[in-house]
Order: sequence, then structure tokens, then C-alpha cells
Amino acid sequence: MLIEADLHTHTCASTHAYSTIKENCRYASRYGLKAIAMTDHMIGTQDAPHIWHFENMKCLPRAISGVYVLKGVELNITGSGGGVDMDETLLKKMEWCVASLHHSVVGEMDADAVTSAYLHAAENPYIDVIGHPINPAYPFDMEKCLKAFKEHDKLVEVNENMLVYRSGAAKVCAEMLRICKKYEIPVVVDTDAHYCELVGMVPRSEKLIEELGFPIGLVENTSWDKIHERVRAKHPDLYI
Ligand SMILES: [Zn+2]
Ligand SMILES: [Zn+2]
Repeated sequence: MLIEADLHTHTCASTHAYSTIKENCRYASRYGLKAIAMTDHMIGTQDAPHIWHFENMKCLPRAISGVYVLKGVELNITGSGGGVDMDETLLKKMEWCVASLHHSVVGEMDADAVTSAYLHAAENPYIDVIGHPINPAYPFDMEKCLKAFKEHDKLVEVNENMLVYRSGAAKVCAEMLRICKKYEIPVVVDTDAHYCELVGMVPRSEKLIEELGFPIGLVENTSWDKIHERVRAKHPDLYI
């Protein structure tokens, strides 16, 4: 197992996913993961839970089946301005924020628009991870944006789900990893699992990383301690 923490997972609160948080954690535990981030879709997408889902996550325990649970969200980047669809009051309460471009929210975008969106999103202090930038539908100026992500401490995501289901994603991902390797830009490898048995399973990402000789030290979530430290530093009052 490459990763200790799967930092992009969905529960059935997103209606196109099929497992509960308890089921996700049970499998994460079985597979030897130390943590997962629960990152259901924010309300800009049609399958998203009600906003109360995000407001009420404090009722969940810190760990389920011995697996730490980061209470987070997958935000929608809403356009070339790089805004996201959650207000600051609630963003402040999120322990982990993935921010992604989704077709149902932004439709088609050209490379200039995507580059602009990412450069602006890079400056948002609440975003932890840029979700699935390997989507071939949204090309962007990689060198420029990846350097901005590093500068603003955003982690760049290798997304197993997209490698499996989106043709052309592996090629984009390889290009992205080459640039990340060249400039020592940290990444995370996540499943974006929509079913419990897929949590933590990243064989395609692992293969790609191995083939490219990508340094494991740059894959931040191979160490839960590293991620844990990051979350505690960012949310000293929130994360206990
Ligand atoms: Zn997504
Ligand atoms: Zn997702």
C-alpha cells in the first residue's frame, strides 16, 4: 500500500456514491490506512448533500474503526475567477478541502480559462488539494500553475478514479508528474472512491509513479504523520 491516508473519498451523502462513512472506514481499517478525508460534493453539483451535511460533521467521532476521519469537502471551482461554492464562515470549519473543476458546474473551459481558475484558486488559503487536475477535458498551463500550487502550499492530486474511468487521464498525469518531479512539487495520491471497497486502492497511480521514477518523498500522503501535522498547524483550534 502506497498511501497511509486517502484524502479524497465520497460517502452516500453524495448520491452517486454508495457507502456510508462507517463502511468506508471499515475498509480503510482492513486495508491498513491510518486516515481518510470525507470529501462529499459541495452543493454546486446536483448530487450534493444538503448544506447541513457540512455544518453538522462535528457530531462524527475523530476516528471510526480506528481510522482518523478528516471532515472535509470537495468544493467546486466555479469558473475562471477561481472562486469556490462555500462561504468563508463554513470554509473555516472544514478540516480538509479538495477543490475541483466539474463539468456540471463550469461546462467547457479552454486552457486560458482553466489556467486563470487554477492561479486564482491557488491563492485561496482554505484549499488543501487541487482535485483531479489530470482531467483531459480541462487543459491548463501546467508549468505555471503547478509552480503556483507549490508556492501557495496546495497539494496536487493524482486521482485513481480518473485514471480508471477517463481516457487520456494517464497521459496528462504522466506529464504533470514529470513537471512535479522537476520542480519538487508535492502531490497526493487519492482514490476519489465512490464505494467502500475502493478506498485506499491506487494500483494505477502506483504503477505510473513507479514507471516515472517519481520520488516517493514527494507523495505527501505516504505519511499520515506529515498530513496530520499539516492539519493541526492549519486548524489548531479545530482539529483535536
Ligand atoms: Zn471531482
Ligand atoms: Zn470526488
